[in-house]
Amino acid sequence: MYRSMMLINGERVEGASGRYDLIHNPANQEAVAEVAIGDVIDAVKALESAQRAFPGWSSIPATKRCTLLHDAAEIVRERADNIAKLLTMEMGKPIRDSRREVLSAADSLDYFAEEGLRNIGEWISAGDTRSIVVRQPVGVVSLITPWNYPVELLAWKVGPALAAGCTAVAKPSSLAPVAATEFVMAINDAGLPPGVMNIVHGSGDTIGAELVKNPIPRKISFTGETSTGRWIMGTAAEYLKRISLELGGHAPMIVFDDADIDTAAGACVRRAFGNMGQVCISVNRVYVDESIAEDFTEKVIRRTLELRIGDPLDPDVDLGPMVSEAQRRKTREHIEDAVDRGANILCGGREPEGFTRGYYFMPTVLTDVDHTMRIMREETFGPVAPIMRFRDEEEAVRLANDTEYGLAAYVYTNSLSRAVRTAERLEAGSVGVNVGSVIDRHAPFGGWKQSGIGRELSHRGIEEYMEIKHIRLGL
Ligand code: NAD
Repeated sequence: MYRSMMLINGERVEGASGRYDLIHNPANQEAVAEVAIGDVIDAVKALESAQRAFPGWSSIPATKRCTLLHDAAEIVRERADNIAKLLTMEMGKPIRDSRREVLSAADSLDYFAEEGLRNIGEWISAGDTRSIVVRQPVGVVSLITPWNYPVELLAWKVGPALAAGCTAVAKPSSLAPVAATEFVMAINDAGLPPGVMNIVHGSGDTIGAELVKNPIPRKISFTGETSTGRWIMGTAAEYLKRISLELGGHAPMIVFDDADIDTAAGACVRRAFGNMGQVCISVNRVYVDESIAEDFTEKVIRRTLELRIGDPLDPDVDLGPMVSEAQRRKTREHIEDAVDRGANILCGGREPEGFTRGYYFMPTVLTDVDHTMRIMREETFGPVAPIMRFRDEEEAVRLANDTEYGLAAYVYTNSLSRAVRTAERLEAGSVGVNVGSVIDRHAPFGGWKQSGIGRELSHRGIEEYMEIKHIRLGL
């Protein structure tokens, strides 16, 4: 069986307790890996090794860090097949998508390798003084990530942190730590000095909490649930640590009557059901103009029924299982609540036939929904597309903004002025207009309202790992 170790001070180690946890494949519930579990003492060791490594790593030329990150990206590509397979086996993502995720993570390392070279300062001339403004790495950082994109979301943190000159301790989700760890091992194998990059395993409330509470890390970069983010923000306040929080979402999709209905229906199916809806930018609520609602819904159903559900290691499969029984139960509960309050299930709403093992669930389309239902208010993180009709633009925007979340939103229209008007009024960190994904590593990504604080990706993503210093020169 595959054995996943921690990386502390450049060494592959087990935890001080010698304990291992088993990781089960959500497609068949068989054990696929054993993972060395750390405790608070291991988190402290990792943080101390990052602290020792910081003076050296932060002062080597940025060009050297750039070369090492490019080398790391290359090693990740060489190992992509293996990392992708582990990713699929531990969290159920179809192998095609896992491979895409790992390769995209390598591209993010390349991107931030270059971004680290563009650390450009300012020169201000004022009478008999001159001011220089520079950016310097913030110090040791804790990088805490969820299970749904365990490799890619870690790359969004490791890339900018290391390129900026920070040293890091990562903690992946205990539901899916294996591929993330292999990714970190690949980066380390590029020849990083010991302690620059560490990874520890264990539960959020022991080892994760230590990475937040301990005085060593100057910054916490966290992706996960809003409730966890709230706790991290409160705890980090004690030492005034810098925080970046990428939290939950509840993305609306608005389809206007002048939209290309086929394109919108296709995007809806991909964005609501991809990765079994376990994506922070999944489409969670669909608002469609009443005059095209029937046509649109029928197209969504037809495409949904074409999706192939099966063993995620099969390259032709579109949808694998959900990550856990808990996640599947929550999805079922949200659907039951909606049906109790008057919703109709047009397809799905149950486990597919013939799957006796694994956490499979059918992609589900609901109509006759309203905002009293949990599915329209809470993050389901499951494969459900609730479709609601609207009468005019005003109502569509009001419904879309009726949420405490503000991560992503989608608009489909062929009217330029309507696209701009709507995009400007939506309360979200990213708005996709006639496009099914809002992710582009050259542009900032992050949430409004309770979806987070700070931005990842783009030059803003690396600035989050830096402090600003003003140096004033008397002449
Ligand atoms: P989670 O909050 O349960 O866990 C995320 C990570 O935090 C895990 O590594 C966990 O072990 C750790 N953790 C838990 N409690 C902790 C604590 N007290 N101190 C420190 N660390 C702790 O989230 P999850 O269930 O793994 O992920 C799903 C959530 O992530 C969803 O809400 C989803 O929307 C969100 N998400 C957000 C984004 C984004 O970019 N905004 C991306 C992906 C997922």
